[in-house]
Amino acid sequence: MRNETMYNEFLELVQTDSASGKEDLIAEKLTKKLEELGFTVTMDDAGPKYGGVCGNLIAIREGELDGALMLSSHMDRVPNGFGIKPVEKDGILYSDGTTILAADDISGVCAILEGLRRTIGSGKPLPRLEVLFTIQEELCLGGAKVMDPSGLKAKIGYIFDSPGGAGRFINGAPGRYILKAEIFGKPAHAGNEPEKGIDAAKTMADIISTLRQGRLDEITTSNFPHLESGTGAANINVVCDHALIEGEARSKDTKRLLDYVEYFRSHCQKVADEHGARIEITTEENFLPFLIPETDPALVIGKAACEKLGLPFQTASLGGGMDANIHNARGMVTVGVASGYSKNHTTSEQLVLEDFFQSGELCVALIETFAEGLKHK
Ligand SMILES: [Zn+2]
Repeated sequence: MRNETMYNEFLELVQTDSASGKEDLIAEKLTKKLEELGFTVTMDDAGPKYGGVCGNLIAIREGELDGALMLSSHMDRVPNGFGIKPVEKDGILYSDGTTILAADDISGVCAILEGLRRTIGSGKPLPRLEVLFTIQEELCLGGAKVMDPSGLKAKIGYIFDSPGGAGRFINGAPGRYILKAEIFGKPAHAGNEPEKGIDAAKTMADIISTLRQGRLDEITTSNFPHLESGTGAANINVVCDHALIEGEARSKDTKRLLDYVEYFRSHCQKVADEHGARIEITTEENFLPFLIPETDPALVIGKAACEKLGLPFQTASLGGGMDANIHNARGMVTVGVASGYSKNHTTSEQLVLEDFFQSGELCVALIETFAEGLKHK
């Protein structure tokens, strides 16, 4: 059934310009909406840490029941998310083809607002609700990563930021490390005395040609697309003294991910030593993997909520990371909830309205089902 409130709110918010680092216009509107619902809204100082103008919004509404539930989505969007003009055709919303639609993640924001409005409006006893609208999710989960989670009490969270139809829950995503090796050789005249040089380009080539990479096993991958070498003077008559390797590793298993990071380190060091080159290796944790079993309360509640609405409950793992990676690593069990979009991050992005409206219903059902198991304070 068509939900005009959600529809109009979606139009309002996607036509409010936003980008990673420039979420302030959306944040202003969301603050007002949340305050009207009785939330205490604060903005943290995460923005400036990434050169942005806006922090994460953390909104709290104390409840009558003894328990807390976290609901989240992100306020930024990939480029180009300015000047969006949504077009409806056969029950599906698109952009006009010149921009993204930004259903990733405004559809998630709207599903949460609908869930809050309806459950708060019902007057029924509710748990403490913790709403988190993050910034810079599209830039390596920046906002969630630097936020201070100490004000959150919830042990379960639902992140409305996943592609697919209503009823689809994302219960797993890989972890990711960013890997970098900088090789320092020794310059020498390439014609007169090449043997006195240490060739950083050759060292790099040997490292890469012998490195295990690509599909490592069914749940682990690595990729090294950025290779660079050259002398300071950019001359080809000098033995190369500098080279760089940059890439990433992903795995759905933390141990396998860390094992690969260690292998990358030792492999690069070994080959550099053989060449007599100095090497600086940096390995940076981007986010850790998560996999939530279907027996976990977060998914048991998800399944029960779907059953109430007659929605097909299903779980799936993603290939990329999401804010849930950060929350799960901090000990809050968090799963993704689909809100009807697909082809996100492209100008063909689309939102199936039926699924979008149902994701609002699902948010209501998740809050109510969660509340059923709780006692009065
Ligand atoms: Zn997203």
